[in-house]
Amino acid sequence: MSTLPRIAFIGLGNMGGPMAVNLHKAGYTVCSFDLSTVALEKAREQGLETATSAMAAIDDAQVVISMLPASRHVEALYLGEMGVMSQLAPGALVIDCSTIAPASAQKVAAAAQACGTSMIDAPVSGGVAGATAGTLTFIVGGEAAALERARPVLQAMGKNIFHMGDAGAGQVAKLCNNMALGVIMAVTGEAIALGVAHGLDPKALSQMMAVSTSRSWATEVCNPWPGVLENAPASRGYSGGFGNDLMLKDMGLAVEAAMGIGATIPLGELARNLYAMNKQAGRGGLDFSSVVKLLNDKA
Ligand code: NAD
Repeated sequence: MSTLPRIAFIGLGNMGGPMAVNLHKAGYTVCSFDLSTVALEKAREQGLETATSAMAAIDDAQVVISMLPASRHVEALYLGEMGVMSQLAPGALVIDCSTIAPASAQKVAAAAQACGTSMIDAPVSGGVAGATAGTLTFIVGGEAAALERARPVLQAMGKNIFHMGDAGAGQVAKLCNNMALGVIMAVTGEAIALGVAHGLDPKALSQMMAVSTSRSWATEVCNPWPGVLENAPASRGYSGGFGNDLMLKDMGLAVEAAMGIGATIPLGELARNLYAMNKQAGRGGLDFSSVVKLLNDKA
């Protein structure tokens, strides 16, 4: 019989689905749940146990992992009379990998403590490709002892683990990363659009930038101009990748986090508006690099 902890995995979307599969491949017994019957069917095909509700999935679980869209989904899962937190086995460990508001993560962590369980916030970086390959970066907030218990489980899904501080600190760090990414993507698109308007070849310009001082993930991996990088979302009609709406959510969380402490993030606020405009232009479901289309509709 396996000595590995039994895991409940809630939220089998683009990220959660492959993460749960990697735990299963590593030998963990994973009981999974999602509101989508399609996601549940896919999980069964890949060898995971499935449950008919979140409450049923957590039965006997020593570790609960959630990968849900936003704060309200995470709070609804864990808190209140219908929430699973109060039903967890004593000593259970909660790992929330969703990207949510730091204040929301702190609220769930406080509820965990009140119930005699532990919780870490462990949002991820690495996208769907990283979730599938098991190479995610986990950005963790919470007690060091809880992270040590979580570490083997996180290692089955990822490559890098950073402990940023107390509850909510993982979410703060994740928002800092994504705010910078959002700004860098927008300005990279702006620069390439400027070059193209002057008659430059976008591929030649991007190749130069990718080895020069403006190099970044946006020039090397996810170039926003179609046809520059074969595997980038831009070269397949901006499908797949990291959705504009998710980037807009993260930029909104960064703005809220800044306002909460009176910090100023002028570029972050400007870029948040660009992703809001891109959504209004009908591209909310496309990869966030489609923001370049606001600047040059040839993209
Ligand atoms: P997704 O929309 O593909 O998946 C979310 C899943 O949660 C869906 O299958 C949905 O049915 C399910 N769900 C919603 N409420 C539920 C509930 N109460 N109970 C059970 N299931 C429920 O989203 P995703 O792309 O997997 O992203 C998940 C989180 O990871 C988000 O917070 C996102 O910001 C973050 N993230 C995403 C990426 C990415 O590249 N997609 C990268 C890093 C971080």
